[in-house]
Amino acid sequence: MQCVRSRLFSSQTRLLPIRSFSSSTISDSDLVVIGSGPGGYVAAIKAAQLGLKTVCVEKGSTFGGTCLNVGCIPSKALLNNSHYYYAAKNEFASRGIKIDNVEVDLPAMMKAKENSVSALTGGIAGLFKKNGITSVHGHGTIVTPNQVIVKNNDGGRTTINTKNILVATGSEVTPFPGIEVDEETVVSSTGALSLKEIPKTLTLIGAGVIGVELGSVWQRLGAKVTAIEFLGNIGGVGIDLEVAKSFQRSLQKQGMKFKLNTKVLSAERTPEGIKVTAENKKGQQEEVVSDVLLVCIGRRPYLDGLGLDNIGVAVDNRGRIPVNERFQTNIKNIYAIGDVIDGPMLAHKAEDEGIICVEGMVGGVPHINYDCVPSVIYTHPEVAWVGKSEEQVKAEGIPYKIGSFPMAANSRSKTNQDTDGLVKVIAHKDTDRLLGIHIVSSVAGELINEAALAMEYGASAEDIARVCHAHPTVSEALKEACVAAYAGKAINF
Ligand SMILES: Cc1cc2nc3c(=O)[nH]c(=O)nc-3n(C[C@H](O)[C@H](O)[C@H](O)COP(=O)(O)OP(=O)(O)OC[C@H]3O[C@@H](n4cnc5c(N)ncnc54)[C@H](O)[C@@H]3O)c2cc1C
Repeated sequence: MQCVRSRLFSSQTRLLPIRSFSSSTISDSDLVVIGSGPGGYVAAIKAAQLGLKTVCVEKGSTFGGTCLNVGCIPSKALLNNSHYYYAAKNEFASRGIKIDNVEVDLPAMMKAKENSVSALTGGIAGLFKKNGITSVHGHGTIVTPNQVIVKNNDGGRTTINTKNILVATGSEVTPFPGIEVDEETVVSSTGALSLKEIPKTLTLIGAGVIGVELGSVWQRLGAKVTAIEFLGNIGGVGIDLEVAKSFQRSLQKQGMKFKLNTKVLSAERTPEGIKVTAENKKGQQEEVVSDVLLVCIGRRPYLDGLGLDNIGVAVDNRGRIPVNERFQTNIKNIYAIGDVIDGPMLAHKAEDEGIICVEGMVGGVPHINYDCVPSVIYTHPEVAWVGKSEEQVKAEGIPYKIGSFPMAANSRSKTNQDTDGLVKVIAHKDTDRLLGIHIVSSVAGELINEAALAMEYGASAEDIARVCHAHPTVSEALKEACVAAYAGKAINF
């Protein structure tokens, strides 16, 4: 803000405050990263560490993108704390802990979530400062292959001239045709992270990763949750179907209801609540009425106002930017990573792409093995996998063998009274090389990283089986499944 003497009122010599709308130019940057999600902010830090003069443009008021603001972090905060509540209410007594009157304090739970988010988004601001990255808050548009113009959030405009541009603008919620989201009673994942009260009933359109995670949060807090899913399985595309079934049983035990192979036709607001009309495979229609409807059918790349068409950057028929193995678009000094390109929409995939993309810019050889990118569903139990599912190896005609081990036979899971789940290892029938590892367990999200490490190094099932694992740990179940895969039989089952 600045005060100027207004000519209009010159006779009265009044001083009027006006917005500055100041323009500035950054003329000599090596790289402009557009978007500060896990792909963009990590790429910006790595670029600066490699000596590139780096600018990061972010249209939001905080850094961190979907993941930190309305994705991974707030959802995991709510999952963690709702799990504590559920366990205190339903499980502590059988563990010998007596507490009366366990209650939810939703505003405090939301506050805890917000504190986690602000600590982490603020942390990025600190890291940018530490690494000498210039940040500009505003909407960036690419006007030429060497220039980005930012409409600053404070009303000004910044012109950035640059050698390279990295598009890391992420994704947005895919709308359901005909269903209008108001983020109060008909919500996307963003609204479902901030409901003001616990709904008595909640319907999910979609039982993929985000649906079952956020459905779990509200189900644990007391909502009756029904998920309507078009596919014949929960957990989304890529999950092993045997694992999906075991996972579904666990969630059903907790009270969640699933209508699979069922297509939502419409949703309307009625005095009783949000009425969803759905149709199953046999053509039978049914109605589900609930207080809140969560629409979570997926996400799509976000490229609004980015100016790609101005300069001819190609976009495919699903709205993604095609890139080569160096993450270059069809315009060689414009790169793209994360949710805007092909591949799983995951924060760690975006981060890894960001790092190898900028390493490639300074002469490195980019390498990423997408078969070794783990996926995790952070429910209870968690579900995690890396590599191929049994359905995939079958479809690809790869000869395979399976080693399984139930958590019910794992000593640590048993002592923790936490025996839902299994480990399923898929290895090549002839070479024993690991092809896929699938885990259902309360600590699957941690355990999967051992599996990813082994697969990244081309390990066989026998390699893991012969590594000494600490006892008693849940990781012994992974070892045992590998013993079963390579030797034909586990020891403890
Ligand atoms: C509820 C939920 C839970 C999730 N949980 C997980 C999880 O547990 N684990 C996991 O791996 N993934 C999870 N994801 C997915 C994960 O959040 C995304 O895959 C990840 O954030 C993608 O990172 P990105 O850097 O590509 O883009 P984003 O994180 O989407 O960031 C893009 C950024 O670009 C900015 N931007 C866009 N256009 C412009 C522009 N023109 N100018 C300036 N700035 C712009 C946006 O404001 C945004 O900040 C979850 C997603 C949701 C919605």
